[in-house]
Amino acid sequence: MIVLVVGGAGYIGSHCVRQLVATGHHPVVLDNMVFGHRGAVEENIPLYEGDLGDCDLVGQILVDEKIELVMHFAAFAYVGESVTDPLKYYFNNVVATLRLLETMLSEGVTKFVFSSTCATFGVPQRMPITEDLPQAPINPYGQTKLDIENVLKSLAHAHGLSFAAFRYFNAAGAAEDASIGEAHNPESHLIPLAIDAALERRPPLKVFGNDYPTPDGTCLRDYVHVDDLSRAHIAAFDKLDKPGTGLFYNLGTGTPNSVLEVLNAVEKVSGKKVPYQMAERRAGDPPELYADSSKAKKELGWEIKYPTLEPIVASAWAWHKNRPNGYDDK
Ligand code: UDP
Repeated sequence: MIVLVVGGAGYIGSHCVRQLVATGHHPVVLDNMVFGHRGAVEENIPLYEGDLGDCDLVGQILVDEKIELVMHFAAFAYVGESVTDPLKYYFNNVVATLRLLETMLSEGVTKFVFSSTCATFGVPQRMPITEDLPQAPINPYGQTKLDIENVLKSLAHAHGLSFAAFRYFNAAGAAEDASIGEAHNPESHLIPLAIDAALERRPPLKVFGNDYPTPDGTCLRDYVHVDDLSRAHIAAFDKLDKPGTGLFYNLGTGTPNSVLEVLNAVEKVSGKKVPYQMAERRAGDPPELYADSSKAKKELGWEIKYPTLEPIVASAWAWHKNRPNGYDDK
């Protein structure tokens, strides 16, 4: 399949591009390079620099490249910033995505794979999180993703759009050969920050709260390898042939790990101490979030190659230790 990967130079998008190539598909990348990196996309892959809300550009790419399916990873994803600057999030994550969808439909491209998030569930009533739990986001970031999930349902009904929306838990890790990996600027995620603290590239890590109702008092999250996420996306392609299909999947390993367990895993794989200090809770952090991914396993035959934390952290370590500046481009 010829696939337009919007946000294909970003963290999850670039890993998906690799998987597409590995499984015989033909990716074409569109990225505005705000968070994307040229170095994350191999030189033989067509790479368009531009915005997903630019209908002329997107329309041209869809036609010129004979695109059959669009995967959309291009969103702003800093929860805290979404609270202080919600319009930025609604314009990019909602308005620009509406333009992308409108352009697709007007060019007759009706297959769509959407990167959603467990943040659409807010503070869920029970664990693990199944797809049927009520969605009540507690920040604008989660709300923008839920808004698009709802738009997709309407477009499936009205125009026969076929889509799969994946709610990721905590995407983590790097490619097996450590050639691509996580490189956010600013970085806010636990695993890269802990690795950099171990390497003394950053000050000691702040553990945000140790008085949660969890076994060691720190938050529990479901860390899932970025290549496992990518495989689920591609496994959904076969399900999108029937017009009007709408699929939702929660993607995680199903195993909750605490912040302290993550620090312990970084120490094990690196052989270094992670300097840390206890700090106040971070606003908006639910105590625990972990997935029930049995639907994806059953319906997509999704197999998790990294079911446990340590190999995930080891792959992140292999990438970060040699890349003090990520891709060196910004
Ligand atoms: N966390 C932390 N210190 C940090 C960054 C994150 O204690 O410097 C905690 C955070 O409170 C959460 C977990 O690590 O419980 C994962 O946070 P991250 O930002 O990586 O992902 P999120 O769960 O917010 O999507």
